[in-house]
Formats: sequence, C-alpha cells, structure tokens
Amino acid sequence: MNIKRLVRKDVASLKAYNATEIPCRIKLDANESPYGFAAALKAVSTVRTNRYPDPEAKGLKDLLAKDLGVRPDNILQGNGSDELIYCLIATFGGPVLFPVPTFSMYGVIAQALGEKRSAVRLNADFDLDSEKMLAAIKKDKPKLVFLSSPNNPTGNCYSAEKILAVIEASKGIVVVDEAYQPFSSEKGFLPLLKDYKNLVILRTLSKTGLAALRLGFMIADPEIVEEVNKVRLPFNVNALSQVVAAAALKEKRQLAGFIKVIIAERDRLLSAMDKITGVRPFPSEANFILFKVKDPDRVYRLLLKKGMLVRNLNGVLKGCLRVTAGTPPENTAFLAALSEIQKG
Ligand SMILES: *Cc1c(COP(=O)(O)O)cnc(C)c1O
Repeated sequence: MNIKRLVRKDVASLKAYNATEIPCRIKLDANESPYGFAAALKAVSTVRTNRYPDPEAKGLKDLLAKDLGVRPDNILQGNGSDELIYCLIATFGGPVLFPVPTFSMYGVIAQALGEKRSAVRLNADFDLDSEKMLAAIKKDKPKLVFLSSPNNPTGNCYSAEKILAVIEASKGIVVVDEAYQPFSSEKGFLPLLKDYKNLVILRTLSKTGLAALRLGFMIADPEIVEEVNKVRLPFNVNALSQVVAAAALKEKRQLAGFIKVIIAERDRLLSAMDKITGVRPFPSEANFILFKVKDPDRVYRLLLKKGMLVRNLNGVLKGCLRVTAGTPPENTAFLAALSEIQKG
C-alpha cells in the first residue's frame, strides 16, 4: 500500500524538522541558555502522577500576568510558543505573511495546515522593507502577519515605527514574536497591547533557561485569547512543566543575573569576533550572533572538529553561521577556535 499517496499534498512536500542530535562538547547552536534551574526541579515531588494537569495552567498564568503587568485573561499557554503559532494559524487561517529570513516555523506550520504563505525579503539592514510589506498586505490581505523581533536568525529588532505601520495597515492579526525580548535593549510591544486590538505578542521560556519544559505564552486581547483557546488541545502543558516553571519564575534575582551575564557575553563575543580577520559579526539584541565568513561550511566543520556546534545558515543566508552566547569559558574557547581557523 502506498501511504505517501494518502498524505495531503502540503504535508507530503514538507520535511520533518531536523532535530538530530550532533554530539559535541560545547553546544552553541540552538539559542538555549547555558544556565538551567536545577533547584526548581524539586517542585515535581508535589505532582500527583495519576491526575491530569491544571488545564488552564492557572498558577503559572497568574505569576506571568503579574510579571508582565497584564491580566490572566490576556494570556494563553502553549507547549512552547511553536504550539501557539500552530494554534494561531489553525484559528485565523491564511494567507500568512512574514518577512524572510526569519524563524522557519511560521512557513512550515502554514504549509502543514494548507494555508497560503507570503514571504517578503528583509532589506539590506535586515529591517522590514516597509514598501514591500505594505504592498503585500494590500495585495494578499493576510489574516496573520508574523514579525520576529528581535529576529531569528539576524539578531536585530525591526524598527518600531515600521512594525507600527504594519499593525496599522493590517486588517488581520499581527503577531510580534518576542522570543528574545529579555536580551533586547528595546522596550518591545507589550505596552501597545491596549492600543491595538489586532496585536498579539508571543513569549517563551525556552531562551532563558527552561527549554526542556516547553512553555510559551501568547499575550493578547481576551477576545483573541478566547478564540485561539478553542483550538488548543486540553492539558497541552503537562503538570511537571507547570510546577517547575512556577518555581523557576519565582527565582527572579537568579533569572535576572543569568540574563545580565548572557547580554554581557553576547557583547563581548561581538567585539572580539569583529577583530578576527575575515569574520563579520552582525549586531544583536538577542542571545546569539549571526556572522559571515568566506567559507562557512569549512568553518562549521572545523569548529565541530574542535567540539563546538554552531548553526550553519549557509543557504538561508549566504556565507552565514549563527553562534549562541554560552558561558564565559565556552565563549572564550569558541573565540580561540574561530581565531585559529581563520588563521589557517
Ligand atoms: C526559539 C523560537 C521560538 C520557539 O520557542 P518555543 O517556545 O521553544 O517553541 C519562537 N520564535 C522564535 C523567533 C524563536 O527563535
């Protein structure tokens, strides 16, 4: 029996997300935090394994609402923000508009759900090309626009005025994906939620030390939350993740300390990489740095040979690799390795 023949055409042409583990000593490829919250794991002893988790993740939402200065009914919880991207597209449908290069899941999920995609190139500074974005909004009438700011993989924030122009021009929902907001010097779009009913903010705990838990959040008008909540599967956030995240979120001083170190290390990486011949790093508001080299495949391979895994973006962004800020010793080792490779 030919199974492939039964699969929807959109899905048949997709490739599974490549999550193969490449063994390495220093892992700098996935924009994870180098710092975890081991003490928070003690909280799992309170979990009753025979009971379903709280379907509304109420404890977690209350904590987050307080931290973000919003109401709990402004928040919807996801099994990672990836799942909320899925729920948003399932709720509103396409066309789905996004600038490229950007986070791949907007396009992948839109395709998986059989929705039309519209991709617009960023300008030479990796900022929004307003003219093209506004033209695409007029022509395609997207139900959803996804803007990752700071953008993965370029690292920059889009200019706030350009994002605002997109929000104002769009008759659909505009999602500002702020996965990297904790590392950014810009204030982000949460303060504008009350002014724009079509604005949705995405946040995640994955980049600040809790990637293992799979926890993301959508912050929006309660009416949007209510609609998207209809397609969310019940119990999407498991009980272990709920209690561990709640315990970790209470460690505010520790979290702030980790973020401060990561930002300082990102800036140290940037200025040190800038001094290595043949390496062009781009400024970053996130926990990673995009950089250009002459022979990215060779640099990638030689780094891996020295035990360091980065992300090879050659193809999506010609000549480019992406390195996540690790611990200070990891970054020092990375700089030494890159320096040596460029000399050879
Ligand atoms: C990492 C990332 C996400 C996914 O976060 P999860 O909460 O782990 O699913 C979403 N958006 C962007 C831009 C990211 O880089």
